[in-house]
This record gives sequence, structure tokens and C-alpha cells, in this order.
Amino acid sequence: MIISATIHPTTIQEAAAILREGQICAFPTETVYGLGADATNADAVLNVYQAKGRPRFNPLIVHCADLAMARQLVVFSPLAEKVAAAFWPGPMSLVLPMLPDNGIADIVTAGLPTLAIRIPAHPAARELIAAVGKPLAAPSANPSGRLSPTRASEVISGFDGQVPVLDGGPCHAGLESTILAIDGEAVVQLRTGALARDDIAETLGMPVPAIGEGSAITAPGMLLNHYAPKTDIRLDVISPEAGEAYLAFGGEPVFDGPMRNLSPSGDLREAARNLFTCLHELDASGATGIAVAPVPFQGLGEAINDRLQRAAAPRDPVAKA
Ligand code: AMP
Ligand code: MG
Repeated sequence: MIISATIHPTTIQEAAAILREGQICAFPTETVYGLGADATNADAVLNVYQAKGRPRFNPLIVHCADLAMARQLVVFSPLAEKVAAAFWPGPMSLVLPMLPDNGIADIVTAGLPTLAIRIPAHPAARELIAAVGKPLAAPSANPSGRLSPTRASEVISGFDGQVPVLDGGPCHAGLESTILAIDGEAVVQLRTGALARDDIAETLGMPVPAIGEGSAITAPGMLLNHYAPKTDIRLDVISPEAGEAYLAFGGEPVFDGPMRNLSPSGDLREAARNLFTCLHELDASGATGIAVAPVPFQGLGEAINDRLQRAAAPRDPVAKA
């Protein structure tokens, strides 16, 4: 595996220098930590797939510093313009038709004619992309199929210290971006994420169907993603068993074992922010399994339950993150 020297950058300029050399470097965003590479450099992007152990047919999201950079890569329909104006910068990825000869390496899109693109809200992420001067392909900075990282320490342990990380503190949203595909004036949600579908629909003043809910738009490979700890997961548990760890939601449950509470007050935004770190910590607790309390499905609960269900699903040999 080709991996950069693992002296961690301490400034945006140091991280930008690593990326400009065609090396990979992890960086903070408001969703989760991303494993970045210059999206116009096929060798650099290949290093991302290799470091993650990610199947090559799973395309990457490209991160832009601003709208001017995004406009050089994809075509915006009037609806895409409206969505971009409403949600960028922010945890929203848009799958849009690519402009010809936009310089993005083929391996980024796995050969698709569309590109997933986003402008992150995290200032360090945007400054980093601007300093590199190139769009950055950046999937989550974890080995494929494992839990996403929301702290620099989780990136370091996930890759055994072999990947350089720019530390920007804990991620604010804590869940991956919501992905919408837009084809002309049609829209479909390809992935739940840090922006709740109800809120998107309300802002746009139109329904946003989930993939499979009757939209003509389809997406390759969407359903195979896993976000799995090493420990087995059991969902909708009110009374965990001895030997298990408990991931609670709301209240002050009494349990004589390792326990984390996603949000004692039952706040879904707080739960989203804490989800991956709580799972990382319980995964390291030595428990025989992780029992998870029920989490309501409304608002951000849709995305939280999606990640929990994937974490609990039987392991698939081609699972990917
Ligand atoms: P990740 O990098 O793990 O956050 O995942 C990015 C996800 O975006 C991929 O798993 C794809 O399912 C989706 N994606 C990226 N590019 C495209 C595209 N051109 N068309 C449809 N989905 C895409
Ligand atoms: Mg991922």
C-alpha cells in the first residue's frame, strides 16, 4: 500500500503541501473526517481506494472550496442551483451531470457520467481545498466497512497511525452528508445524512422521495454501505444483557456495564453528533455485544437508524464505506 509519511500536519499549509504532492491526507469536515486526495490526480485517488480497501466501483464525493470551483465540474439545472443556494456550504452532496473534460480522474466516479459534489461548511476544510487549489476527492477516513471517524484520534487508530491527519477537533454534525441526485427538475435522496429529508423538502417546497420510492433516478451500489463496529450489534433493546455494552438514547437508564447515552435529553442532533464516537468507544470496551436502545425515526432519526441498521446487518464480504 502506498501511504504518505505519517508526520501529522499541524497547519492547513502543511496539509495542502501533502495533497499537492499527490499524497493522501485526512482532514476535518462538519460531517465526518475525510480522507482527501487531489481529485484530478488518478494516482492520488488510487491511494485513497488502497488505504481504505474500498472497492473501485464505489464512487467518491468531490469537495469544492466554493461555487466557482463546483461550476467548473458539473452542470447545474435550475433545481440544482436552488438546492446549492439553500444548502451550501453544508452537509449536502449533489449528484449532477459532469461537464466534459473537467479534469476529474475517471476513477473518482467509477466511470459514471455524473459526479457527487459538495462544498463543506467546516472552515478548515474549505481553506484546505482553496490552498491546494484543486477539488478534493474525500470519502470518510476509515477502513472500508468500518465506523466513520468524527475525531482525529479515530482516524489515527483506524489506520494504525499510517495516514496523516489534520486535527480540527470533533466533527459538529457527526453523520455523513445527505446525498441527493438531481436530474433536470427531478430529485431523489440517495443517502440519508446530516440534513434531514423533511427539512430539505420544507426548504425546497417540494417532496424529496427516498431512493426506491417511485423515482426514476437510480444509483449504483447504494445499498451495500456498512458502518460496522467489530462487535455485534443488537437493535431496539430496552434491557441489555450481562456482558453486553449499552448504547442508550434519552433518560438515565441504569445498567451495570459499559454504557454511553447518545443524548440524555433525547435530542436527535446531539445523538447524531455522538453516534460514531459512542460506537467506537463501546466497540473498544471488550463487551460481547453492543445493545442499542430504540431511536425515533423522525427528522435526523432517519439517518441515525439507517447507520445503526447497517452496523447491525450481517457482514457482507464486499461491504464498503
Ligand atoms: P462515501 O464516500 O463513503 O461517503 O460514499 C459516497 C457515496 O456517494 C458512494 O457510496 C456512492 O453511493 C455515492 N455516489 C458517489 N458518486 C456517485 C454518483 N456519481 N452517482 C451516484 N452515487 C454516487
Ligand atoms: Mg464512508
